[in-house]
Amino acid sequence: MPSSAELHRRRSAAVARGVSSMIPSYVGSAGGGTMTDVDGREWIDFAAGIAVTNVGNAAPRVVAAVRDQVERFTHTCFMIAPYEQYVAVCEELAALTPGGFEKRSALFNSGAEAVENAVKIARHATGRQAIVVFDHAYHGRTNLTMALTAKVMPYKQGFGPFAGEIYRVPMSYPLRDGRSGAEAAAYAINQIEKHVGASNVAAVLIEPIQGEGGFVVPAPGFLPALAEWSKRTGAVFVADEIQTGFCRTGAWFASEHEGVEPDLITTAKGIAGGLPLAAVTGRAEIMDAVHPGGLGGTYGGNPIACAAALASIETMRERDLAAAARHIEAVARPRLEALAAKHPQIGEVRGRGAMLALELVVPGGIEPDAITTGNVARAAHGSGLLLLTCGTYGNVIRLLPPLVITDDELDRGLTLLDQAFADSGAPLV
Ligand SMILES: *Cc1c(COP(=O)(O)O)cnc(C)c1O
Repeated sequence: MPSSAELHRRRSAAVARGVSSMIPSYVGSAGGGTMTDVDGREWIDFAAGIAVTNVGNAAPRVVAAVRDQVERFTHTCFMIAPYEQYVAVCEELAALTPGGFEKRSALFNSGAEAVENAVKIARHATGRQAIVVFDHAYHGRTNLTMALTAKVMPYKQGFGPFAGEIYRVPMSYPLRDGRSGAEAAAYAINQIEKHVGASNVAAVLIEPIQGEGGFVVPAPGFLPALAEWSKRTGAVFVADEIQTGFCRTGAWFASEHEGVEPDLITTAKGIAGGLPLAAVTGRAEIMDAVHPGGLGGTYGGNPIACAAALASIETMRERDLAAAARHIEAVARPRLEALAAKHPQIGEVRGRGAMLALELVVPGGIEPDAITTGNVARAAHGSGLLLLTCGTYGNVIRLLPPLVITDDELDRGLTLLDQAFADSGAPLV
C-alpha cells in the first residue's frame, strides 16, 4: 500500500484544492470505533464520518446486506423498475419517525438533495414560496441549500447568486442570547410575521440541534413554539434531522426530546451505515400533494444503499443504539465537565446523547476562541484522535463517536482529548 505521504503527493496533482481533508493520513481500514491509516497508525474515531457510521464502520450486518444485494442487482432505477428494498426503507421511516399519522417517504442520495426536495414539497403543498431558516443553520452545499445555510466561509464565499425567498431569523442559543425558549420563539416569530408575513411562509426549516453551526441546543420550548406557530398559520414545519437522526441524540430522532412531531423530516447521514442515502418523510397529505413524476432522480433509493439502511436500522434496533448514545453521554459528559473545570476557555459543555460539544471562549466572557479550538483539534490529530470542530465562529469542539464505540475506546479518546487541551497551551485555571 502506498504511504500517506505518497498518496498526498498524488492527490495534490489530481484532486481539486476546494475539496480538503482534516488530516493528512489516508485510510487503510476502519471498524467499530477506530480507524487505521495506510501507515499502520491507529486512530480513535470521534467523528463517525460526520455522524454517518452510527452503527460503526464496516458494520458486519451492513457488510453482509450490501454483499448480498450487490450480487443480486446493483441498479434498475426505482422510477423505471421498482424493488422491495426501497419500499421497506419507507416503511421503516414511517414507523420510526415521530408522529402517529399516515406518512409517505421519498428517497434521495444526499442530505442536501433531501432538503431541496423538502422545500419543493412544502412549496407545492402550500402554494407558498417563503422558506424560514435560522442563524447558524447548515443545510448543505447545493445552490438552494447554500442559500439555506448561514455561514459564508467556506460554504458560500464566491458561489452566488443564491436562491430567493429564503428568510433567516434568530436561533435560540442559550449561551449567547440569554433568552428562554418561549422568549426566543416569540422574537423569531415576530420577525417572521413582520418581515415575511405568515401567509407567505411555505416552511419553517430547522435542525432540532444544529450541527455544523455549533451543536447549538435551543432552549426548551423553542422548537414546540415554532411547530405550534407553523400549524396555526399553515406553514409546513420541517425538521432537518440529517445529523441528529438515527439514535445519535439518545432517541431515534432529536425532535422526540421535546415531543415535537414535524410535518416533514429530512434524514441522511446515519441512515445507511456509510452508504449514500437520504429521505424526506412526512404527512401523507403533504408528501402526496406532488404530482407523479414530480420527485425522483436516477440513483435515489439505490438498492445497495437501501439494503445497507435496512441492516443499519436492524442493528440500531437490536443493539438499542439509542441507549448506547445515552450511555456515551453518561460516560463523556462528566469527563467534559471536569475538563471545563480545568480550562476556563471552555465556556459551555452541551449536547445530547452522543452529540456533545465544548464551546471555547475567551475566559470571563463569551467572545469566541477559535485559535485555541484549532490548537486543541490539531493536538488531538497529532496524537491519534479524529476530532471535529464546528460553529459559526469556529470555536466549538464536537464529539460524534460511532454509537458502537467500546467503553475502552471512548475512555482512550477522552484521555487524548484531555491531553490535547494540555498540549494546546490552554492555560489551566
Ligand atoms: C450534513 C448535513 C446536510 C447535508 O447533507 P449532505 O449529505 O452533505 O448533502 C444537511 N443538513 C444537516 C443538518 C447536515 O448535518
